[in-house]
Amino acid sequence: MSNDDQRQARHQRAMEKLKSHVDERVANANEERGQLLILTGNGKGKTTAAWGTVTRALGYGYGVGVIQFIKGEWECGERERLQDDPHLQVVTMGTGFTWETQNRETDRQACEAVWQDAERMLSDPAIYLVVLDEITYMLKFGYLDIDTVKQAIDARPVEQTVIVTGRNAHRELMAMADTITEMQETRHAFNNGLKARRGIDY
Ligand code: ATP
Ligand code: MG
Repeated sequence: MSNDDQRQARHQRAMEKLKSHVDERVANANEERGQLLILTGNGKGKTTAAWGTVTRALGYGYGVGVIQFIKGEWECGERERLQDDPHLQVVTMGTGFTWETQNRETDRQACEAVWQDAERMLSDPAIYLVVLDEITYMLKFGYLDIDTVKQAIDARPVEQTVIVTGRNAHRELMAMADTITEMQETRHAFNNGLKARRGIDY
């Protein structure tokens, strides 16, 4: 057998093994329901990945709700691009939030107001995907109560998926999640003095 033939035979054996492993895992994954995904960690990519999934769901014509808990009046390229889609609802916290407002009471009220929209989405079976972007900070600052959030997520329609983003996700939310991805910061341009870029960072 030539070297090429030996290599081909080895490759074929490896692929057969891989295929039977993958087939077995596919056969075992037979539960179908909406899921809870948490995108957390200090690295870049949490909100980007959430919007990527929003686009994916909209691509099939599913209803999607996005709540932006922090980005107030900030620009957001994905929102610009997608907001005319009739299947998408986006609710953004009205105030310029936290380090800009520094007023706990008005921030808490702003949070409470968008949480009403979140609760409405979390009980609407026509919404296939709900994104709670940066909600982890609301829990951290004590503007939202963990039990209230857990209950709303728990009681959502069976087919509905929820994506939670933000650093330092609450351990009780982590305990409920089906998928948790921790973005790890290996390096970030910002730490070398590079300014956030329009269309790349927001
Ligand atoms: P992105 O929106 O780019 O996916 P993210 O959601 O993972 O980022 P956030 O903490 O929400 O991260 O980031 C808010 C802003 O800060 C974004 O403009 C993002 O690009 C930027 N950013 C993300 N990670 C870091 C980091 N480790 N250091 C500095 N800035 C960051
Ligand atoms: Mg983010």
